[in-house]
Amino acid sequence: MQFTEKAKKTIDACRFCWMCRHICPIGNANGMERCTSRARALGLSMVVRDITTIDAAIENVYECSLCGACTKECKTGWDPVLFTTEAKLEAAMAGAMPEYIMTLLENVEKFGNVFGKSECCTKLGEKIATLPKTEDVLLFVGKNALYQTCCQVKAAIDLFEKAGVNFTVLADEPSSGWDLFFLAGGAEETRQTMKACAAALNGFKKVVALDPNDARMFLRQYKEWGIGLTSPVVTFTSFVADLIAEGKIAPKKSASVYTFQDPASLARDLEETEPARKILAACGETLEMLEHGKDTNIAGNLIMAQYMPETIAKVAARRWQEAIRVGAKTVVTANPDDHAALKATQPEGMELASIQEVVLANL
Ligand code: SF4
Ligand code: SF4
Repeated sequence: MQFTEKAKKTIDACRFCWMCRHICPIGNANGMERCTSRARALGLSMVVRDITTIDAAIENVYECSLCGACTKECKTGWDPVLFTTEAKLEAAMAGAMPEYIMTLLENVEKFGNVFGKSECCTKLGEKIATLPKTEDVLLFVGKNALYQTCCQVKAAIDLFEKAGVNFTVLADEPSSGWDLFFLAGGAEETRQTMKACAAALNGFKKVVALDPNDARMFLRQYKEWGIGLTSPVVTFTSFVADLIAEGKIAPKKSASVYTFQDPASLARDLEETEPARKILAACGETLEMLEHGKDTNIAGNLIMAQYMPETIAKVAARRWQEAIRVGAKTVVTANPDDHAALKATQPEGMELASIQEVVLANL
């Protein structure tokens, strides 16, 4: 069995107190009790006791976005995300992966991304090809943005060019391992993908990760697993906030009213909440949604949208409702997962912009 003693203890530590119930974005969206970490712990407790096999619990495991909201709330102080990721490895080793997950894994193997795409949009591909080769700054765009929100990658490139950053984007950018980590947990394939990515990144003076999920991999998982990434990595939001602080770009404050959709990886895993707010403060007024900062709720998940799109659409719709409730006119995103889901559900009269688009609009 693949569960570590720590994961088994975490499963058994659940007091079924329900303090994590109200916070789960998936459980809240589809109204299903089984989607909370409490229910998942109950199901997996039977797996670790050999009362049932992983086959019976695995669909439920893939209903978790790994957003960590329950980890923050869990009164035991343990991390329910831990047993969820270990359950995926257990299923992989037992040959019990659901068919829809196998399809995504096959896409990663064949195309290098879960979406089964072999090329990004032509305009972006042409733009990347014109960038000078340099070892100064690498803008690491990530598979999700490259294939699902290419306009946001283009906006990030435009912003760096306006700021005079000496940077490049890899035409054959490898995966950070986030997709495999999400799908198969700590499998050997995940580790090998991370090692290959580290080898491609080492040598750059700085790596700026556009997608917080990639940043989370580089700054947390690589360290935890001893993957030799030697180039310093920063998040896109912290890098842009520094560009403003250093006067390399000077957005003018407008009358726009924004609300920031904190990415879970950024706010919770990396504990970064202020740089995006500093950027927005330079561009206009900011109103906060009830669940913001470390208490954020996700608006989307691009991998889950491949196999449970209706639930992800409901997750995004709840965030729009919250933005409307606080009186914001524009929801600002800093990751492709939230951006894609919010775009697909955008209500009439509301605006959506990535943080790089906000800065560009106010220069
Ligand atoms: S990690 Fe997020 S999606 Fe998963 S059970 Fe916890 S709150 Fe729900
Ligand atoms: S908050 Fe923690 S202990 Fe309470 S039900 Fe949720 S996972 Fe179990």
